[in-house]
Amino acid sequence: MPIKRLLAALSLLIVSANLHAQTPDISGKVEKLINEMTLDEKIGQMTQVTLAVVAKGGWSNEDGSIDPDLLKKAIQQYKVGSILNVTAHAVSVEKWRSVQTEIQDEAKQTRLKIPVIYGLDGMHGQTYTLNSTLFPQNIAMAATRNPELVAAAAHVTANELRASGVRWEFAPVLDCGRQPLWSRFPETYGEDVYIGKTMGATAVRAYQADGLNHPTGVAACMKHYLAYSAPRSGKDRSPSYIPEIELREYFLPQFHDAIQAGAATIMINSGEINGVPVHSSKYLLTDVLRTEMGFQGVVVSDWEDIIRLHTRHLVANSPRQAVVMAVNAGVDMSMIPSDYSFFDLLKEAVEKKEVSINRINEAVRRILTLKYRLGLFDNPYPEEGSLANFGKPEYQQTALVAAQEAMTLLKNQNDILPLSKDKRVLVAGPSASSIAPLNGCWSYTWQGNQEQWYPADSKTIGETVLAKTGGKGAVISVKGFDNPQNFDTAKLKAAAMDADVIILCLGENAYAESPGNIRDLALPENQMALARAAAATGKPVILVLTEGRPRLITGIEPLVPGILMAYWSGRKTAEAVADVLFGDYNPNGILPFSYPRYSGEVVLYDRKHTEDVREIFNSDMTWDGYNPLYPFGWGLSYTQFKYGPLSLSAAQLKGSGNLTVKITVTNSGNREGKHSVELYTHQQYASITPNMRRLRAFKKISLKPGETQTVSFTLTRADLAFVNEQLKTVTEAGDFDILIGDQKASFSYQP
Ligand code: BGC
Repeated sequence: MPIKRLLAALSLLIVSANLHAQTPDISGKVEKLINEMTLDEKIGQMTQVTLAVVAKGGWSNEDGSIDPDLLKKAIQQYKVGSILNVTAHAVSVEKWRSVQTEIQDEAKQTRLKIPVIYGLDGMHGQTYTLNSTLFPQNIAMAATRNPELVAAAAHVTANELRASGVRWEFAPVLDCGRQPLWSRFPETYGEDVYIGKTMGATAVRAYQADGLNHPTGVAACMKHYLAYSAPRSGKDRSPSYIPEIELREYFLPQFHDAIQAGAATIMINSGEINGVPVHSSKYLLTDVLRTEMGFQGVVVSDWEDIIRLHTRHLVANSPRQAVVMAVNAGVDMSMIPSDYSFFDLLKEAVEKKEVSINRINEAVRRILTLKYRLGLFDNPYPEEGSLANFGKPEYQQTALVAAQEAMTLLKNQNDILPLSKDKRVLVAGPSASSIAPLNGCWSYTWQGNQEQWYPADSKTIGETVLAKTGGKGAVISVKGFDNPQNFDTAKLKAAAMDADVIILCLGENAYAESPGNIRDLALPENQMALARAAAATGKPVILVLTEGRPRLITGIEPLVPGILMAYWSGRKTAEAVADVLFGDYNPNGILPFSYPRYSGEVVLYDRKHTEDVREIFNSDMTWDGYNPLYPFGWGLSYTQFKYGPLSLSAAQLKGSGNLTVKITVTNSGNREGKHSVELYTHQQYASITPNMRRLRAFKKISLKPGETQTVSFTLTRADLAFVNEQLKTVTEAGDFDILIGDQKASFSYQP
C-alpha cells in the first residue's frame, strides 16, 4: 500500500476511534439492559409526555408541582422515559431541582431503575427558570457576526439548565430564515447558509463542551429537521414546496455541520415538504439523516406530530398507522405529549408485526446510550455543585455585550446619532415602556408576553434613555404594548413641543410559533400613523425597532433621520439601545437578512442573476430586482472603515489546495470600533445558474482610530461548492470573483 494511502487509512481509524471513545463501555451496558427489558419497558422509553400530564391539577397547574399518583401512573404503569416542558410559566431553580428529584426518585422505584431524561426549550437562554439569563434571539446573535458570543451564551444556558436539573436542551434552531413572514424567523440565524452553519455548530459545541456527563453540559437538539422555516404561505406548520436541489443547498448544510459538531439529538419539522410530512419521511429521517449524514443520536418528534399524520396531514388512515409510519420512518421518541396513546398504539403495532422488534431495539438503544452519556445512570439528580452555576453576576455582562453587538444602526442621516446627553428627549411608542417586546418568544413563558415573570430589575427603553439624560425629557408610553394610549397621536404631538428629539419605539410584541402568524409583513397602521405624527411635529425622530422579523417601514423611513434595529435582544436590550443612542457604545451589528422594501419583492441577497431582472423587454429591461430597504450585511458605525486592495496568494486554486486572501482594513474615523469583514464569492459561469454572491467567511475585528489591520482568509474548493443538477455537492472548474466590501479580485479553480 502506498505510504500516503496507509497514512490516510490510519488517520481514519484514529478519527473513528475518537468518535466512539465512550461507546464500547456504554454499548455493553446498553445491550445488557435491552436484553432484560420487556416490550412495555422499551416502548415506555420511546414515550415522552409533558409536565401537565403528571402535575397537580393537570393542565390547570401553574407552579409545576407534581401529583405523586399521576407521576406513578406515568413511570410505573406507562414506563415513561422522558418528560418535557413547564405547565404555565417559569418556576424557580429550586423548584425545578425538587421536581427533577421527585421524578428520578419515582424512576428509582422501577424494576430496572432507568432514569428519566427531561427536556426544555432554551432558545435564547433557559426560558423556563425564573431569573435565568436571556440573551438576544438567534436572529440578533447572527447580527453580531461573533461566534464567540454564541458560544458564551450557549455555555451560560447549559449551566442554567443543568443547575435546574435538566440535561436536554431543545436548541439550537438551525432553520434557515428565508421566509420573513414566518413567525419563527427570530429563532433563526437569518437567510444565509454560512452564518447558520457557523453559529449553529458553534452553539452545539458549546452546549456539549465539557462532555455530556459534566455538570455544565447538556445534550443539544438540532431542530427542526428539515426546512420548517420556508412554508409557502408564511404560516407556521403549513406546507413547504421545495425542490431537493434547494433543500440541499440552503437547508441541509446547517444540520450536516451540527452533526459533525457532535449534536446528540434532533427534533423533526412539524410540517410537510412537497406533500410528504417530515415525520413520515423515511427518505429524510433514515436515508439522508442516518445513512448519508451519519447521525447516530436520538430523533424526537415535535409536539403531537405523530398523531397529526392522521388528524392533520391525512397520510395515515388511523392513529395506529400514524405511529407505524413515524416509527418506521425513523422517529425514536414521540413527544406525544398529552396522553399515552402512542404507548398503546405502538404496542399494538409491534404485536401485529407492523413495527419490528429490531426497530424498537434500535430506538431504545439510542435513547439509553444518550442517558448513559449524560451520566444519568450514575446520578440522575441535580448535582450539588451545579446550583452555584445559576445566575452568576458575570452572565449579565455577557448578555449586555451580546445585546450591544447585536444593535444594528440602519440609518444615521447627517450624523443625527449619537445624541448628546443634554438633549430633551421624548420617548414614545408601544415598546418604550414594556419588557416583553424587547425579549420576544420563549421568555419565561412560551409566548414571552407575560411581564410579571420577567426579572424584577428588567429595564424598559424609557428608563434607560432617561438614565442617560439624567432624567431630562419625558416618556409618554405606558406599560403594555397594545395599550391604546401608546398610539395616541394627539398626546404625542402635544408632548413633542418640549422635546429636542423624539425616540419612537416601534415593532412587535412578543409572540411564538403559530400565535405569531401575520397576514401582512407591513408594520401595523396604528404604528405607521404614530411615526407620521411624530415626523409631522418637525422634531427629529429616531426610530428604534424591537421586532423579531423585518416589518415593512418603507412609508415612514424617509421621514426619520435615524433608525436603530434592536431586534429582540434579551435581558439587556434597553441598556444596549440607550448605549448606542447616546454614543456610549459604537454599533457594529449588521443585518443577517435583507430588509424588504416591498412585500412583493422579497428577494434574498444570494439570489440568481435573473432574479434581478425586471421588465423582460429588450428595450427597457432593468437589473434592479434586489432593491431591499437595507441589504443583507448592512449596518453603520460611528466611525468609518476603509479597505485596501485584495491580495490573493495565487491566481489559481488547484485541486485540494488552499487560496489565501488578504485585505487591509483601516479605521479612518475618530472612534474605536468593531467591524465584521465579510468575504463573498461568485462563480462567473457554472452548470446551473450561479448565485450572485455567497458569504464564505467573516471575521470580526476591532480597530482604534487610525489603526490598520490585515485580515486573512483561507479558501478551499469546499468553500466554492454548490449542489448541481444531479443533487451532488460539487466544485466546478471556472472563474470566480472574491468580493470584500468595495474590493474585488478574481481567480480560477482547476480540479
Ligand atoms: C416547538 C418546538 C419545541 C416544542 C417543545 C413545539 O411546539 O415547535 O420547538 O421544542 O414545542 O416545547
